Amino acid sequence: MKAAVMFGVGQPLEIRDIELDDPQPREVIVKVKASGLCHSDLHTLKVDFGWPVPLVLGHEVAGIVEAVGDQVTAVKVGDHVVGNVISTCGVCDSCSRGEPTRCTNPGAIRRGPDERARYTLDGQAVTQIGDIGGFAEKILVHERNLVVVDKSIPFDRAALLGCGVVTGIGAVKNAAKVGFGDTVAVIGCGGVGLNVVQGAALSGARNVIALDLQPAKLELARKFGATDVINPAEEPDVVARVREIVGKGGVDFAFEVIGLPQTAQQAIDITDVGGTAYVLGKIPPGKTVGLESNDLLRGQKKLSGLFMGSTIASIDVPLYATMYQQGRLNLDDLVSETISLDEINEGYEKLEKGETARSVVVFD
Ligand SMILES: [Zn+2]
Ligand SMILES: [Zn+2]
Repeated sequence: MKAAVMFGVGQPLEIRDIELDDPQPREVIVKVKASGLCHSDLHTLKVDFGWPVPLVLGHEVAGIVEAVGDQVTAVKVGDHVVGNVISTCGVCDSCSRGEPTRCTNPGAIRRGPDERARYTLDGQAVTQIGDIGGFAEKILVHERNLVVVDKSIPFDRAALLGCGVVTGIGAVKNAAKVGFGDTVAVIGCGGVGLNVVQGAALSGARNVIALDLQPAKLELARKFGATDVINPAEEPDVVARVREIVGKGGVDFAFEVIGLPQTAQQAIDITDVGGTAYVLGKIPPGKTVGLESNDLLRGQKKLSGLFMGSTIASIDVPLYATMYQQGRLNLDDLVSETISLDEINEGYEKLEKGETARSVVVFD
């Protein structure tokens, strides 16, 4: 089976033949039809987060169930499924409280160190990023890492539901709980940021301010419901401009979707008294983001990290799929281009340059 394999940080991915094991009782083989290029995998490719190599990236997948273990109940052969990167044990305190992104034992659904790996290359274990490893013709995953979706949804759109869409809209719906008339700013308008914009617009926010250095991304943000756009490269005083737009000290909710300490600080700076800055971006390990004294006391600002939009995949993925079918959720304009697995390194180069929101690898 062909897969794009990462052998080291900073090295291009190599297309290799890897071996897929047979499914264990609760595991599933999915024939992959589409696999999105997410920014967090680009970070993994460029910055050492400690992932063991060889590693198969790709955690935004959609496909068709091909085989199931004998205890699988969540999916059946022929189902169209989306990968769910939020691995959960289902029984810890967090899972029991309905907070799966805070699961304390996600390893419970992985194979143990003494077992044969799901993927191997010349006998060596190959890691699956996010327990998915989706840049491959097939994936072998635990049934809890899949959600069934309606067969009418095109695979390249459905794939994005697994990460970019749930992370972006989930930040608005599940974490910030943005309400009618609230004010929102989004720093970084890639695949996740556009979904924060879209979620805020759907929530009835009065102002949805999109910030990005790429004019094309700002145009796209308007399509997703941004009421105002700011290009920090052309705006000498971003904080003053945000205050001017909302007519007060800043926005109620600012979302940083890039992963840099300086843009996280900018999110804090453009937040109003009592407002909250959310950091969705993957800040490099060892870097710190914090609140300055005035922001803490008089400012009463809050700063929060977020993981995967505090999503409950079994609820949120079908919800967003339904809203897409109703024509209320835009997935079509998220897909910048579809490419083949062989073109994956070029796809990441474009993503790094900010030329694309999402490239999606499609398989026959
Ligand atoms: Zn992702
Ligand atoms: Zn758990």
